[in-house]
Amino acid sequence: MRIQENIPLASFTTFGIGGPALYFIDVANEQDVHDALAFAREKSLPHIVLAGGSNVLIPDDGLRAVVLHIVEGSYTLQDGVLTADFGCNLLSLIRECGAHGFGGWEKLSGIPGTVGGAVRGNAGAFGSEIKDFVVSVSALNSKSGETKDFENNVCDFSYRRSIFKDNPDWIITRVALELHRVDSAESARLTEETIAERERRHLQNVRAAGSFFMNPIAPANIVEMFETEKGVKSRENRVPAGWLIEKAGMKGASVGGAIASFQHPNYIVNQGTATAHDVRNLAQMIKLEVYNQFGVELKEEAALL
Ligand SMILES: Cc1cc2nc3c(=O)[nH]c(=O)nc-3n(C[C@H](O)[C@H](O)[C@H](O)COP(=O)(O)OP(=O)(O)OC[C@H]3O[C@@H](n4cnc5c(N)ncnc54)[C@H](O)[C@@H]3O)c2cc1C
Repeated sequence: MRIQENIPLASFTTFGIGGPALYFIDVANEQDVHDALAFAREKSLPHIVLAGGSNVLIPDDGLRAVVLHIVEGSYTLQDGVLTADFGCNLLSLIRECGAHGFGGWEKLSGIPGTVGGAVRGNAGAFGSEIKDFVVSVSALNSKSGETKDFENNVCDFSYRRSIFKDNPDWIITRVALELHRVDSAESARLTEETIAERERRHLQNVRAAGSFFMNPIAPANIVEMFETEKGVKSRENRVPAGWLIEKAGMKGASVGGAIASFQHPNYIVNQGTATAHDVRNLAQMIKLEVYNQFGVELKEEAALL
């Protein structure tokens, strides 16, 4: 186990924001996690899990903690069942399984980060969610040291939610996913088409954490306003947070180096000099404005560490 000290974390996040970790340990498998947790206990410090860093905001003064940095692991693919270590990159898995003739999850292409992070937050895009492919999830409880396999039906998956997000003591170490037989060329085409669509919508390659807020469940009058204006049906009475932010006049609002994107108002973007303080203040302003105008409470999708 290689223990590093005072490691700046900004470059490990897509926001490009955040101070140093007091201790920083790369973990690639369950044993590494055990060892890193034992070190944190020995130092009487909390631990923090950092995977692809695409959905986190790290404080400016860093983390007085042991950061378990999840790194690339390995996977097997047998008869359409993919078993992958938590640190496998989601897009690489989609591409590589597609090349072997298994897929069905190409609409998730381009969501940055690891497969473990994706399962924890039930990542989704263009109507597809990772929960639809999960068979089981292996996780380790950081408090008790227990390891357990969770079948899909006990993972409590729903919109950007899982039992693991609700109970952060559990660290996902491996996931099993069932993929469908697909034509390799067609899978590759769908993957690249999805990424191109994301680029067209300015969803890629920005210094952000993706959608900063979850799409909230809104009162009937707001849902009706959305459906009439957009001509689409709301799902689960949710309306897009970006739509509310724009309606509240907060598109393009900024604090310091942080801005609510003009192209995608639910992205808070680091224009180069943003601090975590700027992002938090802007988020607070947006929440207040949306609440005051629509009575809707926005909740962060990004993890504020
Ligand atoms: C440009 C951009 C576009 C995005 N588009 C989408 C999108 O279309 N759809 C979508 O759903 N998301 C999107 N996201 C958000 C993000 O990519 C996903 O939430 C992703 O699944 C996070 O994975 P990660 O490995 O980067 O996790 P991290 O950001 O490292 O971690 C996020 C949280 O999960 C916890 N965590 C990570 N791994 C584990 C684990 N193994 N066990 C327990 N807890 C863990 C961390 O402690 C942290 O609290 C986007 C982000 C960016 C930057």
